[in-house]
Amino acid sequence: MITCFDIGGTFIRHGALQPDGTVAECGRVATPGNDWNAFVSAIEQCAGEGSSPISISLAGAFDTRTGMADVANIPCLHKRAVSRDLEEALGRKVLITNDANAFALAEAVDGTGRGKPVVFGIILGSGVGGGLVVNGELVTGYGGIAGEWGHGPIMDPTAGGSLKGLQHYPCGCGQTGCIDAVCSARGMEKIHKSLHGVDVSSKDITKAWHEGEASGTETVEVFTTLLSRALSVLVNTLGPDVIPVSGGLSNDTALLDEIDRKTRSLVLADYGAPLVVRGQFAANGGLHGAGIVARKTFGEGTA
Ligand SMILES: [Zn+2]
Repeated sequence: MITCFDIGGTFIRHGALQPDGTVAECGRVATPGNDWNAFVSAIEQCAGEGSSPISISLAGAFDTRTGMADVANIPCLHKRAVSRDLEEALGRKVLITNDANAFALAEAVDGTGRGKPVVFGIILGSGVGGGLVVNGELVTGYGGIAGEWGHGPIMDPTAGGSLKGLQHYPCGCGQTGCIDAVCSARGMEKIHKSLHGVDVSSKDITKAWHEGEASGTETVEVFTTLLSRALSVLVNTLGPDVIPVSGGLSNDTALLDEIDRKTRSLVLADYGAPLVVRGQFAANGGLHGAGIVARKTFGEGTA
């Protein structure tokens, strides 16, 4: 039995790959963030007896040349060749896929992008991420980096060119003014603080917007404008058939409708139908995507 994992900074979710390609979720355990041996034990417990392969979706970047992982929110995996070290510790074949890539793959093979040539799956949550799938195959990119549209500074460094005079927020990647720093849920909160001087959660900001309240409306207006501008460049570059969205902000369909409307108004191609939509696997793209990676590696019908 192949066990699939969706590993985040807080929880490890796991499930069993079924012959029909679905993943039956079995449960979740807390992620041992700072202790490698405890992490290995947790994986071993979830996978059960035997030496069958496991397939993992993990929030992090993996250098395809060295295998080295960059996993900021799970310190015991950071700067470690996770798949090689896990294979040694467990005596099993270990497949590892970035979580945004797993989501994009799930959408392209079995979700909103099924049968469509170019699928750009994006994550709008505490950070901004993405994955690109072309003709059903994941684009892994040079050094293991592709689809990561959240990084690279977009904010105009001159005060006059910055929308509403927004500051240039530092990003976790070390640069300043990245899409991740302004177009994530945390970014929305920073925009709100910058415009209105108060700390409010992204949930409360969007709630205020839904209720027509002025400050929340202004924040969402600025947020969706910045996000759509950045996304429009990606759309013109990649020509996606669909942009499925996952992450905390994807639960707000009105927000996605607004991002979709603005993005389609800025791009060159005439999309006659919604382009930015909530992913069919928004809630379980990691597990389902890990299952697809296993199917692609070991053959359809594998379980
Ligand atoms: Zn960045």
